[in-house]
Amino acid sequence: IKIKIVDIPVPITIGPAFEGETIRKKDAWVEFGGGRSTSFELVRMCEAEEVEDGKIQVIGPEIDEMPEGSVFPLGFMIDVYGRKMQEDFEGVLERRVHYFTNYGEGLWHVAQRNMMWVRIGKNAKAAGFKIKDFGEILIAKFKSDYPAIIDRVQVTIITDKDVIEDKIKIAIEKYAARDARLKGLTDEAVDTWYTCTLCQSFAPNHVCIVTPEHVGLCGAVSWLDAKASNEITPTGPNQPVLKGECIDPVKGQWQTLNEFFYTGSNRTIEKVNFYTMMEDPMTSCGCFEAIMAVLPLCNGVMITTREHSGDTPCGMNFSALAGTCGGGIQTPGFMGMGRRYLCSAKFIPADGGLGRVVWLPKELKEFLGQDLVDAAVAAGLGADFVDKIADETVGITEDEIYPFLEEKGHPALTMDPIM
Ligand code: SF4
Ligand code: ZN
Repeated sequence: IKIKIVDIPVPITIGPAFEGETIRKKDAWVEFGGGRSTSFELVRMCEAEEVEDGKIQVIGPEIDEMPEGSVFPLGFMIDVYGRKMQEDFEGVLERRVHYFTNYGEGLWHVAQRNMMWVRIGKNAKAAGFKIKDFGEILIAKFKSDYPAIIDRVQVTIITDKDVIEDKIKIAIEKYAARDARLKGLTDEAVDTWYTCTLCQSFAPNHVCIVTPEHVGLCGAVSWLDAKASNEITPTGPNQPVLKGECIDPVKGQWQTLNEFFYTGSNRTIEKVNFYTMMEDPMTSCGCFEAIMAVLPLCNGVMITTREHSGDTPCGMNFSALAGTCGGGIQTPGFMGMGRRYLCSAKFIPADGGLGRVVWLPKELKEFLGQDLVDAAVAAGLGADFVDKIADETVGITEDEIYPFLEEKGHPALTMDPIM
């Protein structure tokens, strides 16, 4: 990505050099989201008269009213008008919030949508950073990076705990509408898939392949987003790849994708199978929403999420798993994923698909709700399949969950050996 230098009127330094900077809890003045408070980010396309260019509004406390070590809600509503703007571009622009805010020295942002998690470091607070300065950064970066599609931007930042509960409804409706647009599109129905190399600033050899049925593992880049992003910036991080000759239709390996992966991964990865986690799987960067791991004794797989901090039957919690498999490497038996990938008909089909899933945190089951039930029905597993999946209330070791799976007649126990 080309980084333009723009003058942003904030008291901290802004630049890609700070992108990989981590802010530990003890170094944070205040923290937002990440399961501790309500948070969201939303880019909306608006009419010209709805957007007052450059306007920043903070609804709720400013940083001076936030005690050291406190937790507050945070919502970014970014309203955009542009003659060439399209609704399809909203998701793409929204993903940039992650990068733009991370450019600030002493600012830290992970995850996306209503999962976003933000910290302001004590150093940034000491330098005089204010909540409204998020707006300065976002407006300056959006206008300088997307002059072709953005004419006006205004930012509303919400830190009030009542207002945010109201405004988040708008965001959740928008996310659902975006997800719905993808429904019905299959991997086979399109001849072009897209790459995403946005995360190479964190994981230099990492490449995501985004297909209609496989959202990027951050959960924030769908095939439609990647396509839109390529229309906005043809030389940008999302490149089209024509599938071409198929090497292995079951494991999901294509010659052209292998070639792209080899170049894109700085010649570290020679082949990738898109439909299995067990052999040459996709690489994992660091911002995956969830991660799956094989459970040999149960002949299945488990998934845990960034939001679930507890132990899991593979013997590692989310951060230990992320440390083991992140950084842009292929780790057979482990793979980062977007939460919604679990409901995809292309969820590790070569490994047996959804029927392999033997353990999920309750939080993920609830988050996916009816969509997971529908996916189970579509996969021929029956509407009661979700109840056969163990969670932390059943156990957090393979030994603890095995009797439950047996009692429920979980299909994974009678599938071909996974290893
Ligand atoms: Fe792109 Fe993948 Fe990073 Fe998401 S996780 S921004 S899809 S490279
Ligand atoms: Zn990433």
